[in-house]
Amino acid sequence: MENFLLIEQFADLKILRYRIHGWDDLTLKEQKLVYYLTQAGLSGRDIMWNMNYRHNLKIRNALENVYQIYKGDRTSEDWKSFQLYLKRVWFSNGIHHHYSNAKLKPEFTSEYLKNLLEETNTILEGEAFDVIFNEKDAKKVNKSKDADNVLESAVNFYGPNVTTADVEAFYLKIKSQDPDLAPTNADVFKADGKSIDPDKPLSYGLNSMLVKENGELKERVYKSGGLYGEAIDEIIKWLELAKGVAENKPQGDALGLLIDYYKTGSLQTWDDYNVAWTEATEGNIDYINSFIEVYNDPVGYRGSYETIVQIKDFDMSKKMAVLSENAQWFEDNSTLMDAHKKKNVVGISYKTVNVAGEAGDASPSTPIGVNLPNANWIRKAVGSKSVSLGNIIESYNNSGSSGRLKEFVHDDEEHKLEKEHGQLGDKLHTALHEVIGHASGQINPGVGETKETLKTYASTLEEGRADLLGLYFLYSPKLQELGLVEDWEAVGKAAYDGYIRNGLMTQLIRLELGDDVEQTHMRNRQWVSAWSFEQGKADNVIEKVTRDGKTYYNINDYPKLREIFGRLLRETQRIKSEGDFEACQALVEDYGVKVDQAIHAEILERNEQFTSAPYGGFVNPVLVPEMDDNGEITAIKVMHPASFENQMLWYSNVYGFLPEEN
Ligand SMILES: [Zn+2]
Repeated sequence: MENFLLIEQFADLKILRYRIHGWDDLTLKEQKLVYYLTQAGLSGRDIMWNMNYRHNLKIRNALENVYQIYKGDRTSEDWKSFQLYLKRVWFSNGIHHHYSNAKLKPEFTSEYLKNLLEETNTILEGEAFDVIFNEKDAKKVNKSKDADNVLESAVNFYGPNVTTADVEAFYLKIKSQDPDLAPTNADVFKADGKSIDPDKPLSYGLNSMLVKENGELKERVYKSGGLYGEAIDEIIKWLELAKGVAENKPQGDALGLLIDYYKTGSLQTWDDYNVAWTEATEGNIDYINSFIEVYNDPVGYRGSYETIVQIKDFDMSKKMAVLSENAQWFEDNSTLMDAHKKKNVVGISYKTVNVAGEAGDASPSTPIGVNLPNANWIRKAVGSKSVSLGNIIESYNNSGSSGRLKEFVHDDEEHKLEKEHGQLGDKLHTALHEVIGHASGQINPGVGETKETLKTYASTLEEGRADLLGLYFLYSPKLQELGLVEDWEAVGKAAYDGYIRNGLMTQLIRLELGDDVEQTHMRNRQWVSAWSFEQGKADNVIEKVTRDGKTYYNINDYPKLREIFGRLLRETQRIKSEGDFEACQALVEDYGVKVDQAIHAEILERNEQFTSAPYGGFVNPVLVPEMDDNGEITAIKVMHPASFENQMLWYSNVYGFLPEEN
């Protein structure tokens, strides 16, 4: 493949790589911390497989065995279908689609699989074999209002025959705090015998499977010595090592609580850990690791195992700090009316990190941001940590074919600017948007919040306003003066080209022909671009060019375009400050919603040659420690796996800590 970031595509999936920026800026001790945390994360990989479906591990082991030793025809269509199925199973951590939750359909027959199993002496029989081909357990998570959601979901959070009513009744009892009604294992929910604080509700059911034994409902807790204990002991082992190289006391204390939680399964310890983790904000390394998000549970109790290890984005943090220190300068020099300027503006803190490793529910398919903890009372009392995963987003953005950029740029100069300065322009726009944009401006006395005044248009107006503030300052020598860029004009031009190209053309590839623009950010990018295009028409600021039946937008006058952005910034702030619903509605509806059908059809047609799968996922870089004769780590190198299948087989082999049935 031409692009390092894109490994391969199959079915509706693409497999990407990401780079660990900042690795060499870490001390060896910090690198060790990252290494131990990623090992802890990977140690729990099989937990997620078993959570997703009770036969997943059995099926995976059998398929992988066949895949590695089958000596027959490996070129036939059947074999290719088998290989495709296995890759899809790997991607989903099981036999259900990671996004739609529907069971994956193999394109080979049961006879073919039977034959493969026989020829490789692999055993896969009974329900675990049949379920690959039949209609049973068709949905991992069934949220249909006509279904018994617990009973009819294949996800392995509940034992056989447990119903939605069972689950509700079970937790109602626990929450009632009535010692006579509470189940026998309710001590797990209590802190050292203390009664439960109603203002600090525990996350009941988060770390257990609920099963029926002899008609009695019972939790099987995920902990050392409990369910998934074999993998959890490995997680603990690596977390202990991580704790030994923690960057500071709060971080180390939090790791200690996480270890206690894995040892005891106590939900009080889980909350204590979350408080400590949220308060541990110093340091260059952070992580999430545990049973966290509950959306794989149809009734929202049980957490899926996941881990993400994060390194501070040093470069971005520096840029944000510079912007934040100069927030007042940007406010004073913006185009806002004086009455709408803040006298004491404070930059908003916004954090990006670079991912160093992921596992469980966060891999191969990953979130692009993390905002935790989930417990509302902790968020209120202690706060939360919110980060965006910079290198993951960068990979998504840059894994596309370079042919697509060529197709939509007006000329070689635009292409060259984008190649050389586009990425920095994007980063700075994000920084300006988040740190300065959302912090800027004030609402007039007596005018309500925008959700009251601007209603459904509030968020697109706000996002457009923040974009505009960023755009206004992106083409400005001030950025060079602050040391943020080396060539302010080139970066500014690349940023303006990219914004207009996307806002008027390329973002439309995400939309079906005939549909209106609905998504908040797509809307604001369109109304900002379309309004500016129209305002500059008389002076030919942005020229619409048709060449060989293809449309291009060429910016002729960057300083004038900056002025136009400045005017629109002033107007959007006026709308926000005054709560001018009519003006806001007109701006969004006239410029942001409707799509020029001819251009849209043309864009889709021009884009057809660049096939890109709708869902992306990642292989992880491999951290390879080098050791001296005493087994002391002397260095840790970052390698990249050659292929998706290599990594998946390696993971199953090295981190396969669970039995097939749990
Ligand atoms: Zn925003």
